[in-house]
Amino acid sequence: MTAPARTLFVTTALPYANGPFHIGHIMEYIQADIWVRFQRMRGHTVHFVGADDAHGAPIMIAAEKEGLSPQDFVARIAAGRKAYLDGFHISFDHWHSTDSPENTELSQSIYRGLKAHGLIDVRRVEQFFDPVKGMFLPDRYIKGECPACGAKDQYGDSCEACGSVYSPTELKNPYSALSGAQPELRSSDHYFFRLSDPRCQAFLREWTAGTDRHGEPRLQPEVLAKAQEWLGDGAEGGSLADWDISRDAPYFGIEIPDAPGKYFYVWLDAPIGYLASLKAHCAKRGIDFAALLADPATEQVHFIGKDIIYFHVLFWPATLKFGGHKTPDRVNVHGFITVSGEKMSKSRGTGISPLRYLEIGMNPEWLRYYIAAKLNARVEDVDFNPDDFVARVNSDLVGKYVNIASRAANFVNRHFDGKLAALAADASDPHAARAAELEAAVAAAYEGREFGRAIRLVMAYADEVNQYFDANKPWELAKDPARRDALHEVCSRCLLAFHRMTILLAPILPATAARVEAFFGTPGLRWDDLGVRPGTASPARAIGRYEHLMTRVDPKSFDALFEPPAPAGAPDAGAAAVSAAGAGAAPSGQPPGAPAPLSIDEFAKLDLRVARIVAAEAVEGSDKLLRLTLDLGEGRTRTVFSGIKAAYEPDRLVGRMTVVIANLAPRKMKFGISEGMVLSASADDPAQPAALFLLDVDEGARPGMKVR
Ligand SMILES: [Zn+2]
Repeated sequence: MTAPARTLFVTTALPYANGPFHIGHIMEYIQADIWVRFQRMRGHTVHFVGADDAHGAPIMIAAEKEGLSPQDFVARIAAGRKAYLDGFHISFDHWHSTDSPENTELSQSIYRGLKAHGLIDVRRVEQFFDPVKGMFLPDRYIKGECPACGAKDQYGDSCEACGSVYSPTELKNPYSALSGAQPELRSSDHYFFRLSDPRCQAFLREWTAGTDRHGEPRLQPEVLAKAQEWLGDGAEGGSLADWDISRDAPYFGIEIPDAPGKYFYVWLDAPIGYLASLKAHCAKRGIDFAALLADPATEQVHFIGKDIIYFHVLFWPATLKFGGHKTPDRVNVHGFITVSGEKMSKSRGTGISPLRYLEIGMNPEWLRYYIAAKLNARVEDVDFNPDDFVARVNSDLVGKYVNIASRAANFVNRHFDGKLAALAADASDPHAARAAELEAAVAAAYEGREFGRAIRLVMAYADEVNQYFDANKPWELAKDPARRDALHEVCSRCLLAFHRMTILLAPILPATAARVEAFFGTPGLRWDDLGVRPGTASPARAIGRYEHLMTRVDPKSFDALFEPPAPAGAPDAGAAAVSAAGAGAAPSGQPPGAPAPLSIDEFAKLDLRVARIVAAEAVEGSDKLLRLTLDLGEGRTRTVFSGIKAAYEPDRLVGRMTVVIANLAPRKMKFGISEGMVLSASADDPAQPAALFLLDVDEGARPGMKVR
């Protein structure tokens, strides 16, 4: 039944060490962690490693701004990683850094391999130089229009709109993001990886279209299609350009051997960090790294996001192949996470803070379950929707799965002293055959990263078990001493079914599984413990005292997740104050006592603008907010959520002018993004929510006029 043991080397994309994890990182770690935990439960050996991507100009520049060395800057970021990884039960074996001796040695050795294959060229190239800052500009600090699709404000190395990768000098209308200056072209020696070489092209064509050792395609169909588009049809020798892998000093990175003042471009050494982390992990565990990596039986599996496909299915396998290493078996690509349909973006200040999620006491397994329920093997975006989240956790996870244990355990503890009936999972078990079939289907779903399917299968089984419980009416059996054995059997079968479901869900819910292990006294749940095959005895014999395994989500948690805590201080009752009624701000919140005097410079920081209300509508699910569409004369409209529903009929507002704080950072709210605040006067009296008055503007004012 059980397949031969596998040895897996599994990684997630290396996060750039210039900021804390965002929800997109956590989604990827959860996806990979579920897959890894499943493999471990099947008895396979998994080396699951991650690392910080520490090098490059952005970190050098950010560190300098803070007066830190790049090493100290990166160390500070790294110190914050554990709270997230432990908090969401991510079971990495090791977390490393690309700024490490292992990575230096591996990167230099791989480079020597490329050079020995005649795949490194040195060319004098013209490069953008910032005349104001007096330095060659890193790619990320040159912006302009994408040469392929024309999207504006794209970085110098790749386009976020169409995914093209190019050199900064190909950008149209470039400018320096450091100084705003128009950059000058100056020349310098650069090192190139000759990807246009026919050997590289031929290898990549074969590798991308290949299968892994299990006969499964190495790349998902949509990823393969993208790779083939980049590779061209091969008729004219391919269309992959050579890759500039060097940067001039000053640069925070790894020195190129025998090339003074030249460093590897961060994208050359970043993926080599996968190997560096594995090497450090091996040293810690006393494993022979070189032997493990070279062993043809070791499967190398990467989990990445769709924004870095180019690097991982073209540059990375070619680097490994010609640098003297085994190439990856699989590259598993996922989509982005959106929140209520909006793309997560750090720069716009939207999205869910994973740390805040933990700090306000939301259960990390709710998020693991919810994300798993939405994941499949395709490159699709996952939308985080609060209402859907509440429904899935409360109705399915707690209402169906946890419910079985709490209902059945009650009877077994009260009437049978916690002992389960001596039942073999044989043909007389109405669930045995069904469960064996379920086990196989769930295992196949996990293996193929169809986690949503795995959950649907288990929840359908939970429905059947709940129906079995209801149909046998244990509460009536318990009243009749003659039917004591029947009561014992029904409740025991339900608890054994719950035990099976726990094993099936354990890759997703590791902490709950650990509590269930303690409850049943069956430590170290493995897939082989399913005990669902005819004739196999159940591993569980008795249960402990039942303690509630998981609470329901309180939908109010989302107010705390999406919004800052309420301001401290008592409301200054009776004093009419102009307050910001937008973005869900509390109408009160002025601390007692007069505010400190304000300088004219401080006042000037507020960008107050005249706005025309183009549309106004109630927000479904909120009794306070109206969604306003505002024209600030910007050539586009803005959406602002305003807590004025009690005071205004939406229809009355359309067409009128009012005053808005235009430079407030956009805020992610439960219902969408609010891009400003509408000003209103209020009496700060909670008993009179309707005593709220929008500011008016005299006739003649136009949208966008500055208020000063
Ligand atoms: Zn583009």
